[in-house]
Amino acid sequence: MAYEALYTRGRPKNLAQLVGQEHIAKALARAVMSNRLSHAYLLVGTRGTGKTSTARLLAKTMNCEAVLNAQKTGKPLTANDIPCGKCAACLSIDSSSDNVEFDAASNRSVEDITRLLSTAYLAPLQSRVKTFIIDEIHMLSNEAINSILKLIEEPPPNVAFFLATTELNKVPMTIRSRCQVLNFRLIPPERIEPYLQKLAARLEVELEDAAAKKIARLAEGSMRDAITYLDQCYSMADKKISLDDVNETLGLVSDADLDEIISAVKSQNRADVAKSVGQAFQSGLSSISIAEALITRLRDLEFEILGRQNDSELRTFDRFVDALRKAALEMQSSGVPDIILEMTLMKLAAPEFVPAAQVPAAVNIPSAAKTLTGDLDADKKILYDIIDKSSVAMRGFLLESNFTQTSADAVTLTFKKKFACEMFETGGRAELEKFFAQEFGRKIKIETAVDENISDAALERAAPEHREFLKKTMDIFQTDTFEKI
Ligand SMILES: [Zn+2]
Repeated sequence: MAYEALYTRGRPKNLAQLVGQEHIAKALARAVMSNRLSHAYLLVGTRGTGKTSTARLLAKTMNCEAVLNAQKTGKPLTANDIPCGKCAACLSIDSSSDNVEFDAASNRSVEDITRLLSTAYLAPLQSRVKTFIIDEIHMLSNEAINSILKLIEEPPPNVAFFLATTELNKVPMTIRSRCQVLNFRLIPPERIEPYLQKLAARLEVELEDAAAKKIARLAEGSMRDAITYLDQCYSMADKKISLDDVNETLGLVSDADLDEIISAVKSQNRADVAKSVGQAFQSGLSSISIAEALITRLRDLEFEILGRQNDSELRTFDRFVDALRKAALEMQSSGVPDIILEMTLMKLAAPEFVPAAQVPAAVNIPSAAKTLTGDLDADKKILYDIIDKSSVAMRGFLLESNFTQTSADAVTLTFKKKFACEMFETGGRAELEKFFAQEFGRKIKIETAVDENISDAALERAAPEHREFLKKTMDIFQTDTFEKI
């Protein structure tokens, strides 16, 4: 299959090629050089972020002749050399019986898995270190988990375990506490884009910038998804992949179609709204996908006009986004999502929603009038008021953090948990920066910090109303995701 080929070809060959996971590559390279690799790793992260690829690189590294040599002689290595990819061990490991790899989510029987694990007690046949790579470890039976636990606690010589999971909370604490944990981040689209361009060049196909951007955004942090999308487009394209090709191949509403809806709503032309939405439905997409595509498109448009001081247009788009977000929430639990989407757009296009007189007076305060004073208490109030207008996700971040320092043009956001801070960096910083720029009329620098000792009371004080709001939202979604961050 072409997809297999492209995905395999796209796999990183050494630690330096782990796109978006430089923190892991760096830590591992250091561990290699100081000869301190662990015999048990737990690789945690969303699908397609590089967990299995990293496990394979480490399995190779533990056997790589060049690496072993460098460790002995003290010759410096860079992430580019780990593993070398050229020595006999590197070349043979993929087909070696000393490298056991399986997916716990597959339908292997308990006996089968127990048998595979029991081979850990046999000395490796050809390799120096025998390696076990187990995907979706949280899916294993208790019996298998106990076998692994025993192997990790009293490891046979020359055996290493790489346990990967997308759901850390389902992995028993006993396993978690005995492994070196590697946390994989969502890969930001701006890191995915150039990688797609590189792959396209290798395939000798031209990938339009807009097309690469669209694929990178659709992938939502997963390199694997991005490569799959690229491959689907590649198999349909000739010598060039355009934005239209991407939309057509992946069954997406094109930006042009989305713009048609947005402009119909903006100009309050309800007949055009009905027509353009009808066209979007014909593309076969669900109404929720269309609502999400509209939100993303509106956000893009907001970014485009941000520098132009076009406050009234920004507010209009903000209002659209808010309404669509609410609608998308309702659609999730409704039997008639199409109608909700159509009604929402019709309402937005209705004249009574648009006159400035209808807009609450507070919104009309010139945005640049707001300034930070550097007085933490006073500034916190201003900051939380602003964040009140932002997304559910942003309030989720706020629930896990506190403003601990402000000046006239910078704020420090302190998180209790490192993971929450990382999530903010990849999934929230851009939105908050944009929000601040909008409200203060200039760039406010956002510093982040992690302080595990920050008291729950401080977080509680930080945002009681956000907590209330979140709780309600989580009830609607029937999830406790934010609690688990
Ligand atoms: Zn090697």
